[in-house]
Amino acid sequence: MNNNEVEIVDADIVDLTARPQQQNGGGLLDTNTDNILYLAEKADKYIAAMNRIMDAALRITNELDWVLIGGKPYLQESGTTKVARLFGISIQLIGKPTVEFDGEGYKTYTYKARFMLKDQFIECEGSRSMKEDFFAKQGKDKPLKKPDEIDERDVKMAAYTNCLNNGIKRLIPNLRNIDIDTLQRAGLDPQKIAGYTFKDGNKGGASKAAEATGLVCSRCGKAVTQKVASYSQGKFGAILCMDCQKEGAQQ
Ligand SMILES: [Zn+2]
Repeated sequence: MNNNEVEIVDADIVDLTARPQQQNGGGLLDTNTDNILYLAEKADKYIAAMNRIMDAALRITNELDWVLIGGKPYLQESGTTKVARLFGISIQLIGKPTVEFDGEGYKTYTYKARFMLKDQFIECEGSRSMKEDFFAKQGKDKPLKKPDEIDERDVKMAAYTNCLNNGIKRLIPNLRNIDIDTLQRAGLDPQKIAGYTFKDGNKGGASKAAEATGLVCSRCGKAVTQKVASYSQGKFGAILCMDCQKEGAQQ
């Protein structure tokens, strides 16, 4: 055990932190008019650039590249790949996906990838578990599907998509907070986007027939499809059938 070395290191750290700021060539920022105008101009340019990036990113996608979950748009793997290509982002998977089992035999897939933009890169992960509602839920008061009743490929694909989305959204942060109106402004028709919702009473993630979903219009009680419910949640903040949506829009 060499205590002397530790003491020397400690003393160095104290010395560094005790140094006054001015030695770094610093000083207080002068908030005179020139500097303020300079900052404002920078901010304007930044916002304009970000808007151009978002416009281009949304314009390259179509309705099939999105899915509405509970009314919130999510970019699908096809869309993420288009956006990546548009900006010259290359994606490299790191190793094979890892698989974890929980005590009941449900698997969680995790993908890891490297996202390269010019000479920089970031690394991101994406995971999905079989036990999530989207894969396992059968309906209210019904038990979750057993692991062997769930299509593993769906879970793997979703984990892969999640990984791609995490990477692209870290590079283009505004893609995180897209809503239906933003998609509409970009020329997409949200009514053509597939949708799912997980409100109580809903009988499963993938069911398409209105009656089978257990979802009803909150105004007139008519059965609605997953797609209509999800669109309406995003657009009107409530589940409404097509007729009530029209009435709501006219008011
Ligand atoms: Zn209705």
